[in-house]
Amino acid sequence: MVHMKNYKKLAFLFLLSTIPAFAQGNKPLAGLNIMLDPGHGGADSGAVGHLGLKESDTNLRVARYLKMLLEHDGANVTLTRTQDKSLPLSKRVELSNEAMPDLFISVHHNASLNPKPQNHTEIYYNALDSGVSKFVGEHMTEGFEEAKFTDYSKKIPAGFYVLRNNNAPAILTEGSYISVPDSEKNLRSGKGLTNEAAILWKAIRKAYEKGPLKIDLYNGASEKLIMDSPYFNILFTANKAIKNVKASINNSNIANVDIKNIMAYPMTYSLYNSSPLKSGKYELTMMAESYEGMPSAKKKINLEVNLPVNKIGFKPVAQYIPMGFKGRFPIDVVLFDEQNNLNTRSVNAKLEYNNNSEELVTDESGITTAFLELKGDETKEVKVCVTADNGVKSQISLPIAMPVQRFVLGKLTGFNDMPLPNAAIKHNGKTIAKTNQKGLFYFDYPLSTKDFEIEVQPGPGHNSFTQTLTTNGEPVILPLLEASAVSPALLNKKIAIMAQSSLDNMVSNLTKPLTYSGAKVCRLDMPANQEKPEYQAVLEANMIKNLYLVISMKVEKIKDIQIRHYHSSKNGKKLADAVKNTFMQNYPNISVKSTAGSDYELGHTGATSIVIAIPEQPDENTREALINQVSHALKNN
Ligand SMILES: [Zn+2]
Repeated sequence: MVHMKNYKKLAFLFLLSTIPAFAQGNKPLAGLNIMLDPGHGGADSGAVGHLGLKESDTNLRVARYLKMLLEHDGANVTLTRTQDKSLPLSKRVELSNEAMPDLFISVHHNASLNPKPQNHTEIYYNALDSGVSKFVGEHMTEGFEEAKFTDYSKKIPAGFYVLRNNNAPAILTEGSYISVPDSEKNLRSGKGLTNEAAILWKAIRKAYEKGPLKIDLYNGASEKLIMDSPYFNILFTANKAIKNVKASINNSNIANVDIKNIMAYPMTYSLYNSSPLKSGKYELTMMAESYEGMPSAKKKINLEVNLPVNKIGFKPVAQYIPMGFKGRFPIDVVLFDEQNNLNTRSVNAKLEYNNNSEELVTDESGITTAFLELKGDETKEVKVCVTADNGVKSQISLPIAMPVQRFVLGKLTGFNDMPLPNAAIKHNGKTIAKTNQKGLFYFDYPLSTKDFEIEVQPGPGHNSFTQTLTTNGEPVILPLLEASAVSPALLNKKIAIMAQSSLDNMVSNLTKPLTYSGAKVCRLDMPANQEKPEYQAVLEANMIKNLYLVISMKVEKIKDIQIRHYHSSKNGKKLADAVKNTFMQNYPNISVKSTAGSDYELGHTGATSIVIAIPEQPDENTREALINQVSHALKNN
């Protein structure tokens, strides 16, 4: 309660003394919709200062001040939370994506376990938006720098959850360090709060000095465009003259996109592409810039390109059907579009062979495996015909031949019954077949050998095994072959490793077993010439969709090996403990500590992250043992 009283009084004094604008009835931010997101709340207090100040409270108070200031300038301001209650990140993003404000600002305060951190300001803007997010973020950074609010201010492109998944321009502010005693005192007194809010307010005011640039689809056109041509032409309007437009498709910039001013209609433009698109579903993102240098928010349009089928091809699993073959004989049907690309969409088609006629719904990959049900009494050939829904048809004739060799057909699946492509089927050490995209394989083999063994090598992620075939010469359809996963915990998981180049050896020694277990491992960029290379690495990590784990390796002036995790990450702690435990079991003489850490990459990546810190002594054996135990722990946890 004491807090509330102070807060009201301070706010009142503050407003009287520092806002000349609304005295003149000026509303420079009229029409601007802003969503403020006070970070943390409820059980999640965020950072806590040495004197007990909670980040969640501080964030809320700054957001409330800021709301008042912005509203006096005419902006419409909403808060994601107005009380001290917890609110999941997904809910915050949901609120923003529903309301689609002109600007979303998540208010936070930083903390460090480092006993003497520098008190500084970090302004993170959505790295996927070089428009409004960056533009306003730059003004905020300058504002903090000019006001000398902390020792220094930095703007950083970032991929935090509330930024990356936000469709509105989004910024996350870390105004100051709550863990720095002076800074905490300042925030507690209320002066720090009001100053911070005022800096943010002035920065927003300055950024929107000339008013926001708003673009809209012409005449309320739908944001979903279904087309049967590889070219789009999207009409849109703007509230100011537009200098240029940037457009990207599925987050990668597209070449040959341009705008035309439709002269007859003022402020109306057409956005078009001149290199063709393939069939498929795309997300087109466009962003405009006015002649004043003001960017617009990003506009997203869903494109569905359904190019007509232009040609149909066939790829039988084997060049002939062995006489007497009974059962399902696979044949790949390949669809092409008018650009001669694989037609990557699903169409309704008709499959005809012998006296059968059946529906065939084609695969979105453009290659569909159809099966011919054969009775074994076919004698000369089997004619197969496929007709697409637009009438394009194609035919192939498969010869039936007396096999002079064994004819073996099989299908290989792995973990969760997924077909395994590209696996090697070997006999006596020689590859005799490879599985196709659907896991199917075929080979023939001289009749002279009786029982024989094949070795199946599925490649990274799955274990090899052998299978014995018994045949007297008749065609063999193998039972479904199933390969077991090396480590279900790591299979197809994305793991990012960050380490300076001096640790190249350790990185490659760790990459090998992880890759063998089926993990997709990548190395994050740690630019050597940069003051804080971890910023770049973390940014890259946050851009990876569905990243499972970040492993950071570093050499430090420490006595024992340390495995560090983010203090509130359950999974991080579990992994760090697992490494420590397996290490202690196998190498009782080497001491390893599992502990919470304050490393930048621990607190700023969306994925689970662990830091492996090793002492400086270049003991190769210890390093090797460490890598072994890390990969062992990851495989089994
Ligand atoms: Zn926070």
